[in-house]
Amino acid sequence: MSHCCSSSGCDTSYPRKRICPACGNECLEISSRTIAHHIRFSWRWTPSSRYHYFCDNPDCDTAYFGDDGSLVAKTVLRVRSAVKENGGDAVLCHCFGVSRADFEREPSIREFVVEQTKAGNCSCETRNPSGRCCLKDFPKQKG
Ligand SMILES: [Zn+2]
Repeated sequence: MSHCCSSSGCDTSYPRKRICPACGNECLEISSRTIAHHIRFSWRWTPSSRYHYFCDNPDCDTAYFGDDGSLVAKTVLRVRSAVKENGGDAVLCHCFGVSRADFEREPSIREFVVEQTKAGNCSCETRNPSGRCCLKDFPKQKG
């Protein structure tokens, strides 16, 4: 993310986190650019609020919300993302197209994604509907 934090010229007057009005989960800010890359009928979407947030609670039907209370349902997402959906067809890594089933068959894919991320070859900020790194969505290694 391009948010700076410590420099004095930085605009820190807005909250970077906000509580999801649908489920109460604490959510991180996301750019409207990222949202437009992920919703169906994005040409009909007119952002009504200045700041937007992504709810990463898989049990919550809301994907995005604005600070004005506007909601975007997860059913509007173009791709079934593992962040919000169960099931093998849900996508874990949106940059390289890894589904949950792919990863379960071939857990070493995670190393590939780690390598690509280190090399700067990922584009999570726009490819992942959460706007955050796909690696955080991989199930934790057991043992
Ligand atoms: Zn929520």
